[in-house]
Amino acid sequence: MKIFLIILLCAVCVLALLLLIALIRAAAIKAKPNDKPSQAPFTPEDEAKYAHALSEMVKVPTISKGEGEDKSEFHKLQSVLRELFPQIHAKLEFTEIDGNIIYRWQGKDSSKDSLLLMGHQDVVPADPAGWEHAPFSGDIANGKVHGRGAMDCKCTVMSEMAAVEELLEEGFTPERDVYLAYACNEETSGGGALKLVNYLKDKGIRLCAAMDEGGAIVEGVLPGMSTLCAAVGVIEKGTSHIKFTAKSAGGHSSTPPRNTPFARLSAFVCEMEKKNHFKTKMPPVVEKTFTCIAPYLTFPMRFLFGNLWLFKPLITALMPVFSPQARAFVTTTLVFTMSEGSKAPNVIPSEASMTANMRVGQLQSRDECLEILRKTAAKYDIETELIIGFDSSKETDTESDEMLYLKKCVNEVFPQYCFAPYYMSGGTDCRHYTAITDNCIRFTPIVMDSQQLAAMHAPNENIGTAAVAAGVKFYKYFIKNHN
Ligand SMILES: [Zn+2]
Repeated sequence: MKIFLIILLCAVCVLALLLLIALIRAAAIKAKPNDKPSQAPFTPEDEAKYAHALSEMVKVPTISKGEGEDKSEFHKLQSVLRELFPQIHAKLEFTEIDGNIIYRWQGKDSSKDSLLLMGHQDVVPADPAGWEHAPFSGDIANGKVHGRGAMDCKCTVMSEMAAVEELLEEGFTPERDVYLAYACNEETSGGGALKLVNYLKDKGIRLCAAMDEGGAIVEGVLPGMSTLCAAVGVIEKGTSHIKFTAKSAGGHSSTPPRNTPFARLSAFVCEMEKKNHFKTKMPPVVEKTFTCIAPYLTFPMRFLFGNLWLFKPLITALMPVFSPQARAFVTTTLVFTMSEGSKAPNVIPSEASMTANMRVGQLQSRDECLEILRKTAAKYDIETELIIGFDSSKETDTESDEMLYLKKCVNEVFPQYCFAPYYMSGGTDCRHYTAITDNCIRFTPIVMDSQQLAAMHAPNENIGTAAVAAGVKFYKYFIKNHN
């Protein structure tokens, strides 16, 4: 009994000591308020000019339809770009490959690895129902440009081009070649970006960095976050489409047997929904995100996230219940998206199927996840077939010269914001560029609030005009000081 009490007392003392260390650490890492002025201010005239340019681009409905689509809207957008950015079109080398476009700005030393800024010209479709401003109106109202593509990602394309246009007007020549690359089918996972990568590859071009959409300056990364965060995507999850098929003898619906194809598929879907069969673990990049944002959190969040050495297992266990986004950080996700059965309501299907989308992270390979699915589906006499799939992208080193340079630029232009690498559950064209660069950086230097993030691929997409103006100035600063 006495020994038990001594052990208990020791355990309490150790726990109290650990919590005290965690408390001291949390107090020590608190970020100091930063009121250093931005190194790239903008005027109201700038803001109006950029808003007009973006509005003109939004008015062209460049909806992505897939390979072999009619490119006329893309050619319309390209003539709008010619009007908006005459210097670029007079001085840069322009190449079009099946609607995908790339500009080369020759630098002082073309033997150096080139810098590439990118985005995409296409947008997802927009059903006018539910929109306050028509999807392709390009309305400028309440300090925002409204319309499909205003945020994803014509604001990125416009800001990059406006920055280059102004630098050309100023007579600036970059140290190395700078490319601007815009594919026309990112939204349908078309091969546009790949065509541009192959074009560069054939010319023997290596890139010091490729900077794409993906991350942005966002609010509310975690509850208790006291500032906005420049979230930079450094890795993308892989994606797979998987078809699950259940077969039967079919027959008339008036005399149904047990375990028809949909009954088995439903049982399988329920099992996958209820129980996570994949590994749950905090990947290193998520740890880096939390380490970067912890100083900007208020208590008690800073106490938790600032002490991953102590609370990592607890946080990892809580993330899947906290939100779907948090869950996607720590595990492979699977969601069923399509189903097919018989052609008539009174015919039992001889074959029914459900298709799922799986996002594989760094923790497990696609093959390992597929094996888990195959085994689980087999219990219900269901066949598993991989339709398409690829693993997660290579992770960009957060300590590389290019990432450190980006961080420095963010600190100069947006001194009040936090800077953090992050793990992307979605995909961008940037992953194709891993073939010619080690630094795939997914970051648009534009503030996007929660409503704007929620409106991506949804009604009422918009972007703030002041945020866009700051974004243009960021790109200018970034290009001008890059060497
Ligand atoms: Zn996009």
